[in-house]
Amino acid sequence: MSPNLYRRVPLFGYMAISKKPLTARVRVAAKGRGKKFGFVQTPLVAPIRRKVRANGKEYLTIAGSDVLTRGARRTAEASARMQRRLADAFKKGRLSKEEYLRLREKIESKANRLHDLIHRQTTRLAERDPMLSMLYNKAKFFSVLGEWIKERKGKPLTYIILDVDFFKKINDEHGHLAGDIALKFFAQAVNKVSKQFKGFAGRYGGEEITVAIPRDERHARTFALMLNRELVASFQREEVVRSTLKGKLFTFSAGAHQVKKGEDTRTLAEMADKKLYQAKKAGRDMVVYSIDMAKSNVTLAHSIRQHRVV
Ligand code: GH3
Ligand code: MG
Ligand code: MG
Repeated sequence: MSPNLYRRVPLFGYMAISKKPLTARVRVAAKGRGKKFGFVQTPLVAPIRRKVRANGKEYLTIAGSDVLTRGARRTAEASARMQRRLADAFKKGRLSKEEYLRLREKIESKANRLHDLIHRQTTRLAERDPMLSMLYNKAKFFSVLGEWIKERKGKPLTYIILDVDFFKKINDEHGHLAGDIALKFFAQAVNKVSKQFKGFAGRYGGEEITVAIPRDERHARTFALMLNRELVASFQREEVVRSTLKGKLFTFSAGAHQVKKGEDTRTLAEMADKKLYQAKKAGRDMVVYSIDMAKSNVTLAHSIRQHRVV
């Protein structure tokens, strides 16, 4: 990519091999009026996949898998090349046998270490959604949730499904790329709050994100309120997101279900889905959850927006 191209794009996402070797990182850099680019000048090893225009700006997209496959190929090629040179030097009597074996072993172990690293990164990419802040994908989320259910030993575990309200409108009004930016922004906030609850999050599909927290179901309400607070706070901080959405932050709805004895991931998803549907029907911007009151289950719908301070 030529420096000229950098200059022509006001905002772009790129993947680069950054300080750590073979670590793919996505960064978004913005060029403000009179300001310099915010990106770090590291070698860009992935080809640009697509060039898109939205909101009068140009964006470049590249794929993380390209970085990894190229990294793997380069490692294999470099190690084979070095092995050949070494064998050649040994044959010509320029290296003692001990020295030859020592260096060969060194190259092999270095190549193995790099391969392990690439393998870990590839697995990470396969289990997560690189477009969505590396949240778990659906398969991985439900596999981890299944393990948590098995190992919970009577401890509380609540599953929450979150869905952005009127997301189609965001796409329609501001374009699909704006929708993607909004979704990534949402995912980042969900991820952060999930970690504060010592839980984990995944992409269920489209703009639906699922969360599991080791708490009882009434904490779904606390989760929604904290997520709301986090969204409002980061919306204030992130100028790019704010301008993309023309200053209007979206709302979300949530349905929760606490795992009971004998229930599996499927039951959890079905029960929470029903509550999400209730939240949507009740006007959105709502979290629906149940609490156990004197042995009977009471389902509550709690408004999230009334706690919103913008
Ligand atoms: P509701 O309040 O009922 O949830 O309304 P909604 O418009 O959000 O409806 P729904 O959840 O059914 O639709 C989700 C829409 O999200 C459909 C699809 O166009 C859009 N969408 C799904 N995934 C993506 C994505 O990765 N990027 C973008 N930009 N849009 C997506
Ligand atoms: Mg929606
Ligand atoms: Mg949806």
